[in-house]
Amino acid sequence: MPANKKLLILPGDGIGPEVMAETRRVIDWMDRRRLVRFDIAEALVGGAAIDAEGTPITEATMQAARDADAILFGSVGGPKWDKLGFDLRPELAILRLRKELDLFANLRPAVVLDPLVDASTLKPEVVRGLDIMIVRESTGGVYFGTPRGVETLPDGQQRGFDTESYTTGEIERVARVAFELARKRGLRVTSVEKANVMQSGLFWRQTVTALGARDYPDVALSHMYADNCAMQLVRNPRQFDVIVTSNIFGDLLSDLASMLTGSLGMLPSATLGAVQPSGKRHALYEPIHGSAPDIAGKGIANPLAQILSFAMLLRYSFDMEEDARLIEGAATAVLAAGLRTADLAGPGGTAAVGTRAVGDALLAELERRAA
Ligand code: NAD
Repeated sequence: MPANKKLLILPGDGIGPEVMAETRRVIDWMDRRRLVRFDIAEALVGGAAIDAEGTPITEATMQAARDADAILFGSVGGPKWDKLGFDLRPELAILRLRKELDLFANLRPAVVLDPLVDASTLKPEVVRGLDIMIVRESTGGVYFGTPRGVETLPDGQQRGFDTESYTTGEIERVARVAFELARKRGLRVTSVEKANVMQSGLFWRQTVTALGARDYPDVALSHMYADNCAMQLVRNPRQFDVIVTSNIFGDLLSDLASMLTGSLGMLPSATLGAVQPSGKRHALYEPIHGSAPDIAGKGIANPLAQILSFAMLLRYSFDMEEDARLIEGAATAVLAAGLRTADLAGPGGTAAVGTRAVGDALLAELERRAA
């Protein structure tokens, strides 16, 4: 049997611990049933860590994150901590993890599961079968570029400014992630920028083109301006396979694409670092939703985004495609059977069930499929 896989679980605040509890049941089930063993460590992050340990993430937790093979993150934040100074915000936990582990490639799948085709705001014929992957560069670009600031001009006005900047290396490493993903999917990459009006956009396009021609001639590469991409995602989203783009455009386009699929409670994500010489790659998996303080403690949160984040973890950190599909298939079956939390049980639709009931149904389905 291969060595145990080290997982660090960080449930966080609000609904984080509630949805993580159901995910933990799935992890324990896999540990029991299949040829995989996890060494699991769990720690506080965000507001929970501020309350108990005085900081959003302790040094010990950071060290556990560096040591882990993969990190499963819940969500952080809530009104209780909203008034804290900027250097003591719950969100600093995730920002620090991303920065110190150099997690530069954010992967957001936008998949429309058949039972939820009516949950999208778009027509079923536009989104049925949708399965795209958006790869967003997440440690560079205008959110981090310098110079940045607000200055006073000689005429007394003020000027606010940021800098969009990307190096060859930053572009190539995120584009490689996209090309490699395409090789396991539909062999198509669309690179998105504004090469028509931005120097850094033109440089992005040239760099991706050169890399594609050199190392990925088998993958069909096309280019699209970001504004057109936003339009195409709504007009005909199924034309895409893998989209790769900068931090700011990815921020906007991935949020847009997420809504094609219906509910925030369904959407997982992964953020990957570079493959190190040892073969290890830091990776963090989390639902895209936040801590949902409005429903926290009520036992009604949808646990599927968190559980599907664990399925992504199996796929991308441990190459356990079959097991990832097992979980995704079971989740689809649970939805098809009408067991849905309130966010998915629309008016006139199926009656809503709680977080735990979805977890129960998922485990029963896993049991049935593995029998
Ligand atoms: P949110 O994603 O927490 O909630 C938005 C809406 O979606 C709410 O009405 C909520 O009830 C609903 N929702 C979210 N997840 C759901 C689920 N699994 N099941 C059912 N309904 C769900 O976003 P928000 O309200 O803007 O933010 C709340 C807090 O979360 C803030 O403190 C924010 O900073 C934080 N946040 C954290 C992360 C993170 O940890 N990565 C991400 C986004 C927001």
